[in-house]
Amino acid sequence: MNCIFCEIAAGKAPVEIIYEDENVLSFLDIKPLNIGHTLVIPKRHYENYLDLPADELRNITLISQKIAAKIVKAFEPDGFNIIVNSGKAAGQSIFHFHYHIIPRYSDDKVKFNIVFKSYGNGEMKQIAEKIKNV
Ligand code: AMP
Ligand code: ZN
Repeated sequence: MNCIFCEIAAGKAPVEIIYEDENVLSFLDIKPLNIGHTLVIPKRHYENYLDLPADELRNITLISQKIAAKIVKAFEPDGFNIIVNSGKAAGQSIFHFHYHIIPRYSDDKVKFNIVFKSYGNGEMKQIAEKIKNV
């Protein structure tokens, strides 16, 4: 399989490593939205969020929290985003699950171009039911 993150996990492509253990690797994003933008990946290949077994998800999430705390200590940003893009329409470009940890600043001009939608009368109840009933 041709997956750049599998290559990185196998040590076959150079990255600036932040953290590594048997199951998880964290490294700097090559095109940071802000300086210190970090990725956290499972070493095993899972395409996206829904594919991660619970134990992998639990483990990588707890490690990501520790890395986020380190980023906050290192840069003292005003905030940070933890982002998971799942699927092309959601902005996923590498189909090997990863968390983005992005330090944020009040004046950083990083914009996600959000346009809010709205619900019609009574529609929220229907939509909530649709999700709950799956
Ligand atoms: P996504 O669009 O959520 O799939 O994010 C993929 C991220 O991987 C992007 O932010 C890229 O900049 C980053 N990326 C791609 N190739 C590399 C690489 N070789 N080293 C570090 N980061 C990379
Ligand atoms: Zn992979």
